Amino acid sequence: LLKIARPKVLILLWLNIIVLTHAALSPYPWSPPKDIANKFSRDPATLSQVSSDFGLIFHRNSSAVFTPTSISDISKLIKFSNSLSCPFTIAPRGQGHASYGQAMTRGGVVVNMTALNDYRNGSGIVVHHDKQTPYVDVGGEQIWIDVLRATFVHGLTPFAWTDYLYLSIGATLSNGGINGRAFRFGPQISNVHELDVVTGKGDLVTCSANKNSDLFYAVLGGLGQFGIITRARIPLGPAPTRVKWVHMLYNDFSTFSKDQEHLITFKGRNGNNQADFVEGVLMLNQPSQDLSFYPESDQPRIISLVTQYDIIYVMELVKYYDDNTQDQVDQEIEDLIHGLKFIPTFKFDKNASYEEFQNRIRTIELTLKPLGLWDVPHPWLDLYVPGSRIMDFDEGVFKGIILKQNITARRILVYATNQKRWDDKTSAMTPDEDFYIVSILPSTRFDNLELYLAQNQQVLQFCEDAGIGAKQYTPHNKTQEEWVEYYGPKWKTIQQRKLQFDPNKLLAPGQGIFN
Ligand code: FAD
Repeated sequence: LLKIARPKVLILLWLNIIVLTHAALSPYPWSPPKDIANKFSRDPATLSQVSSDFGLIFHRNSSAVFTPTSISDISKLIKFSNSLSCPFTIAPRGQGHASYGQAMTRGGVVVNMTALNDYRNGSGIVVHHDKQTPYVDVGGEQIWIDVLRATFVHGLTPFAWTDYLYLSIGATLSNGGINGRAFRFGPQISNVHELDVVTGKGDLVTCSANKNSDLFYAVLGGLGQFGIITRARIPLGPAPTRVKWVHMLYNDFSTFSKDQEHLITFKGRNGNNQADFVEGVLMLNQPSQDLSFYPESDQPRIISLVTQYDIIYVMELVKYYDDNTQDQVDQEIEDLIHGLKFIPTFKFDKNASYEEFQNRIRTIELTLKPLGLWDVPHPWLDLYVPGSRIMDFDEGVFKGIILKQNITARRILVYATNQKRWDDKTSAMTPDEDFYIVSILPSTRFDNLELYLAQNQQVLQFCEDAGIGAKQYTPHNKTQEEWVEYYGPKWKTIQQRKLQFDPNKLLAPGQGIFN
């Protein structure tokens, strides 16, 4: 019996030795296929770059960084992982501007999406300006500032925006993509014609509302769970050249919110004088006040106002114009703000170029960076608060928590939007009614971080206890139970989508939904 078995045992032993030697020599517990082997890097500096993010709160070590030089590389990577008995997780990383480790993976592979830009060699943004309804095809790794510039030269622009433009298209479409234009045009995920997606099975699929629509809707707002977006087709409209930018100050939240709701529903006598952008910012009685919008001569009286009331609500209204409409823009603004109850004499305005306005957060970044105030921890909290409960939120959170605790907050936004502009078929979550977008955006020192994280927890707890029904945007949940609660009745759909498109649960593990 031994004689017969011996050759088999020897072969097995020999195979074992080969596998073990290979594993000992290979830096990974698996050996990558030859055609993509040189795209993995374990260089400590490269690994370190993807082990944290803008938030600087979490740190996770991945086992390798994958640098794709084509879309099919991404497909091969995902198929390879799926072929293993113990697959590794895969985190696509755009600009790494998430706050809570969403683009990281512990022990898995990070895909450096920005590398695709070199592969495309200038073809990452293709503007189809000669079509009757123009659009732009954009690589998932591209950033919005480049889309702004590439479309603007053709006199065109996308409809929906984020405030900050150094974010990747793939990531904002995986979240939502929101700012003060959402009340009119919806989030960026409501402004997409078509996507190319590499699914969690490694298949490259083109999808839209009419073609492979189950994947299309799964991926939009899908937090990277179902596929990696490699191209998006985004509709375009005429671009303005300039904007009229108005700030109006309020000391009473009820009046402020009523006026904001008026502004986002106002259409004008002929139905075509809508606001182009409406946001709101809190001015708190704190030393780090950014008053750069206001004339220097007015700054002292603004400071006294904030000192008197502790909290001032600033309405931000923008109207676009160009050479043909510059004569009427002032009248249009007058019509828009007619009857609004801001504090008399506290209305300020300025003109800016379209790009200057769109890229305004970059100006803040470039001011803060040299002061060492940009690359610091960012325990941010973004919430969608139902309109019917926004007064309770103001009392409980703005006045009850933030003002009372007097923790410095660099920027707090609050602005109204229309729920019907969101498509419930996507994976994104919103309240069931019109809501306010609230962003509490502090920057802090490491030794103060816990204080801010505790404050966020308090805000969430308040919302829970008071039954506010708020939903987090760019959500961060610690446990799967919290995710189940977050998705509510949609959880079953999310689970089914995961099973269909990423059954081995490889993608975007940093979100912590399934891993
Ligand atoms: P990353 O941090 O690299 O990734 C975020 C998530 O998306 C990860 O889960 C990642 O795996 C996944 N992902 C990345 N690329 C892809 C892809 N191609 N396909 C599928 N999944 C992918 N958001 C707004 O909506 N409006 C704003 O006005 C706004 N302002 C911001 C201002 C600043 C200064 C910052 C830092 C963030 C802001 N955000 C805003 C939030 C921002 O939209 C998200 O954090 C976004 O995910 C960051 O983009 P990123 O390219 O850095 O993504």
